[in-house]
Amino acid sequence: TNQTFTMIKPDAVQDNHIGAITQMIEADGFRIVSLKKTRLTLERAGQFYAVHKDRPFYKDLVAYMSSGPIVAMILEKENAVADFRKLIGATNPAQAEEGTIRKKFAKSVEANAVHGSDSDENAQIEGDFFFAVDERF
Ligand code: ATP
Repeated sequence: TNQTFTMIKPDAVQDNHIGAITQMIEADGFRIVSLKKTRLTLERAGQFYAVHKDRPFYKDLVAYMSSGPIVAMILEKENAVADFRKLIGATNPAQAEEGTIRKKFAKSVEANAVHGSDSDENAQIEGDFFFAVDERF
C-alpha cells in the first residue's frame, strides 16, 4: 500500500524535536494522514511491541516507550514503508546515514527518536492501534 505508520519516541518529544522531525517527513514527500500526541501506558506499550516479547531488550523498551508522550502518525506516499525506513536510517544511530532522522536526533539504539513500520501489514496494524477510521484524512 501507500501508507506507513510512525511514532516520534519519548526522547525526541522531550527534546522539542516534533517540529523538526515532521518537517523532514513532509519535505521528503510524505503527506500526514493522521497525527496525535498521546502517551502509552506500560500495558499498551507492551501490546504494541509484543512481537519483541522474547528479546532481551523488551522490558527496557516497553518502559522507555511509556516513559513520556509520543507522537503517532499515519503517513502517505508511494512506496511508503520502504521510503520511510530509508528516511529514518539504521536502528543504531552509529550506523545511520547522513541526512537521516536517526542520524540527526537519535541518542542510542533504544532512544532512537522514531519508529517506522517494517511491512505493509504492520503499518496497517500499527495505524489501527492508534487511529479510528474518522481520524484519517
Ligand atoms: P522500529 O521498529 O522502532 O522502527 P527498528 O525496526 O529499527 O525500530 P527493531 O529491531 O524492530 O528496530 O527494534 C524495535 C526497537 O527496539 C528499536 O527501534 C529500539 O528502540 C529498540 N531496540 C532494538 N534493539 C535494541 C537493543 N539491542 N537494545 C535496546 N533497544 C533496542
